[in-house]
Amino acid sequence: MKSSHYHRKGFGLKDEVEPELIRAYESDLITEIKENGNCLERNGIFIKLADSFGFCWGVDRAVSMAYETRRHFPEKKIWITNEIIHNPLVNSHLKEMDVQFVEVDENGNKNLEGITDGDVVIVPAFGASVEEMELLQEKGCEIVDTTCPWVSRVWNRVVKYARSDFTAIIHGKYNHEETIATASRAQTYLIVENLAESRWVCDYILKGGDREEFLRRFEKATSSGFDPDIHLVRVGIANQTTMLKGETELIGKLFEKTMLSKYGPKVIDEHFFSPGDTICDATQERQDAMLLLVEDPLDLMIVIGGFNSSNTGHLKEIAEAKGIPAYHIDGARCIVSGEEILHLENSDADKHKQIPVVKRGWLPQGTDRKIRIGITAGASTPNQVVADVIEHILALKAEAQA
Ligand code: SF4
Repeated sequence: MKSSHYHRKGFGLKDEVEPELIRAYESDLITEIKENGNCLERNGIFIKLADSFGFCWGVDRAVSMAYETRRHFPEKKIWITNEIIHNPLVNSHLKEMDVQFVEVDENGNKNLEGITDGDVVIVPAFGASVEEMELLQEKGCEIVDTTCPWVSRVWNRVVKYARSDFTAIIHGKYNHEETIATASRAQTYLIVENLAESRWVCDYILKGGDREEFLRRFEKATSSGFDPDIHLVRVGIANQTTMLKGETELIGKLFEKTMLSKYGPKVIDEHFFSPGDTICDATQERQDAMLLLVEDPLDLMIVIGGFNSSNTGHLKEIAEAKGIPAYHIDGARCIVSGEEILHLENSDADKHKQIPVVKRGWLPQGTDRKIRIGITAGASTPNQVVADVIEHILALKAEAQA
């Protein structure tokens, strides 16, 4: 095997890259709004920012490590296995720094063929699968691993389940990089995306059902050789760190109740294990802030984050559950005009998919009263992107008033 090197920390260049990161991703406007109690009133619009939004600690660290890596290896070919985080601005800056992005298909399969001996490979904040790490080591790469410690914590849990012969029930999206990486560490796993899927599985556990239908339904979301009649006898719960906390809790309780009904309280420890959720603190803070924000009287909510950002999508769900019109956009480019906005909507053709759609009439028009807009952003969205969106909305309104 060729020799690879593994870097889990930066290269001591944090102070050098810091000014560059501030220039690229921070914003004076956001600082001003924060100093004003997260509020801004201008041009007949009242903007209320969530108490907690945008870059989390893990993303900050991953982006900073990527910048340090470029400086530390100025001559080497550098790759990122997919994206460092789910944000188009950050990814475009890295491309400008001549960092190559590994292609990924819609099932999460990566094409690592272009990577050769001695190349530098940055593993993103959501981590990489066991197979991928082994392949990179075999290729003799310099591996810069920015996996967030919150993600490693989930991996530790599923490894523990595997040692005790428990199937990991992972609340997550089967094709999300983090969940793919987590599942690769489990011996047997089943990925459930939401409460409805969990109910279906729990019904199967209690009443049995059509085994073939089960396998068809969870074809992409189970470990190889998974048999629902064998592998749902001992289950432990884990989750993607960025899922909706409330839903993860309900799923944990549902499986616990199911195993209690089936096996009784005396032997429950042999059939069910869940030492609490593994939602990360940044996700929780952003969801809590959103729950608070939607208590305000808002006309609409703008949620900013990459279109493949899971935690951003869940923030939008909180506003929708409250009946507030909410738009998940990835930046100012999505605000086409005061009439049209490009945002993510559920696909009719595939329940697992959301697609960008132009929606008309998103901004209330022809009213003399103030329009109240709530704004938040997922953990991979820089302040600069949030500021651009706010400036764009204010400019549209100013134009309409002129
Ligand atoms: S969202 Fe959570 S798990 Fe993901 S990088 Fe940020 S802190 Fe880490």
